[in-house]
Amino acid sequence: MVKSRIPAPRRPLLLGACALLGTSALLVACGAPGTPAAAGDAAHRSAPPSASTGTTGTADGTSSAVRPTPDGDRETGAVPGRTPAPPAPGGSTAPASPYASPSSSPSAPGSAAPSASPSASRPATPARPSAPVPASHVLRHTASGGRTVALTFDDGPGPATGQVLDLLAQYGAKATFCEIGGNAQARPAAVRRIVAEGHRLCDHTVDHPQPMHTRSHERQVAEIADARSMIEHAAGDGTPIAWWRAPGGDFTAENERIGADLGMKSLGWSVDPRDWSRPGVQAIVANVQHDLRPGGVVLMHDGGGDRSQTVAALKQLLPWLVAQGYAFDFPQS
Ligand SMILES: [Zn+2]
Repeated sequence: MVKSRIPAPRRPLLLGACALLGTSALLVACGAPGTPAAAGDAAHRSAPPSASTGTTGTADGTSSAVRPTPDGDRETGAVPGRTPAPPAPGGSTAPASPYASPSSSPSAPGSAAPSASPSASRPATPARPSAPVPASHVLRHTASGGRTVALTFDDGPGPATGQVLDLLAQYGAKATFCEIGGNAQARPAAVRRIVAEGHRLCDHTVDHPQPMHTRSHERQVAEIADARSMIEHAAGDGTPIAWWRAPGGDFTAENERIGADLGMKSLGWSVDPRDWSRPGVQAIVANVQHDLRPGGVVLMHDGGGDRSQTVAALKQLLPWLVAQGYAFDFPQS
């Protein structure tokens, strides 16, 4: 049933979605399938690096504040290990709640009744529909560990994918490409080159819906399953796709299960230089150099708009990684 969908005609929807997103703070990697830079770009610009949410200014998507708008891959809540601390001030963000509540009523069994009332009043506060159950198996480390790094590129393939591949080849680096179904379908040659040169593929949905957790279960199944089919078809039937990455890192227990049922693990990241927002080449480079730790997974983009800064940053980062003794690896699977 899911596979019966016809991917091509869906592209227009994507653009529309991105346009809408552009009005808010999300935008991010609204990788417009098939649309080189236009849509994605517009979205990114309109969103001054999460001003609304109160991002700390850092180029990394760490600030939990960004959460409200699970946008592009600047995923906020996604920054796992390193950003656990900043419990959103307003705490209005959904993902945070699940962790907070438990501690409220410690150990008083009998006090259960009394505490009920206070907690009951809270539910009214959150305006959002329903708090999604957070995913619990998002991978954010390399397969081998040690002094290794896993480079990941989202929202492609796009016009810059060839340049990224050329650079990776120059340094003997392997990476993982989280592709949007429509883009893979539109650029099958790029997908095949990625595979032929030893890189790996990851499913990044068909339309890059954001926030993904607000979509119906059926829609999420289709987004993940259809993209998987489209990417595999472009790469060559039988090509393994071990991971899937939720747009904006919006992983939930629900969509994680969908991916798992399709044989894919949830791929997150540990370093987000926010290259999608085009903060400047040096900002991208400095962010990676500052945040990367052995075994880290770096998030960058080869699609979703003008990626010239990403390419320029990569030209500096690849030799730096080599000089630092890092070996290129794939994510855990
Ligand atoms: Zn993306």
